[in-house]
Amino acid sequence: METFIEEEKVETQSEIKDITSHADVSLIAKEKASNIPANSSLIDSVKSKEMIQTKLITEDILDKKFENAIAESLSRKQFIITDTLPKMRPISRTGQLSNNIYILFESNDEDGNPTILIIDQHAASERIMKERFLSQYRGSKVQKQQLIFPLKINISPAKLFFLKEHLSEINKFGFELEDFGGATFILRAIPAIFGKLPKLDVLKDMIEEIANIGKQQSFSDSEEEIINYLACHKSIRGGDYLTLKDIRKLVLDLSKCKDPYHCAHGRPTFRVISFRDIDKMFKRIV
Ligand SMILES: [Zn+2]
Repeated sequence: METFIEEEKVETQSEIKDITSHADVSLIAKEKASNIPANSSLIDSVKSKEMIQTKLITEDILDKKFENAIAESLSRKQFIITDTLPKMRPISRTGQLSNNIYILFESNDEDGNPTILIIDQHAASERIMKERFLSQYRGSKVQKQQLIFPLKINISPAKLFFLKEHLSEINKFGFELEDFGGATFILRAIPAIFGKLPKLDVLKDMIEEIANIGKQQSFSDSEEEIINYLACHKSIRGGDYLTLKDIRKLVLDLSKCKDPYHCAHGRPTFRVISFRDIDKMFKRIV
């Protein structure tokens, strides 16, 4: 992990160097252009020629030197527009695609053949959260965080029975929910796994949803579904922007899961496309 951080530092440093060299070059180009008096059309045309030339030289220097960090990050964000082809742009440096749902990696299959690996960030995160939460729950070690102010929650009559009947079991998920009589419950603590305290409306919805899950089935049938629901709630969402650090953490955490291949609901966390399949797509091989 630390080596990764070191690499990052080095990368940033060379980026800074790139930026400086780029700035210098464009400054020289501007100075050259502004030395020419611009008071006749002849001179104007000379000037523009000069500018074009300067521009060419500038581009030449840049081309010859190396791909500039700023220029590169800009060009990555910009679509290449042509008359005939669909608009296109290279993927981001982190591999996260523009919908912030999938992350693209280069990988290898078990035989060492190169592949492209695509992670569904929500599915992966949900798996991590589920296993973390499940092991806490099974070991009866779910950590709680106390609410600063107890929250009064009214539950609709149809869902009351499950909550009243299984309150002590529900509290094992890390809640401190108290039957206040009638349709009213008082919430004093929530699972620590949520980290930052969710909004009060979200907390009310959560209790309501737990009651809803158990409405028509036994507690043992509801158990896993409640864990999935809580895990899903805490997970990275599709649409969340991830840094390189987030992505590395996601992969490392996923690698420690008992079942890294499926989300809490059984969807795949990642899929693989072999270079061989791509070769076939391009008819390099048949
Ligand atoms: Zn899922």
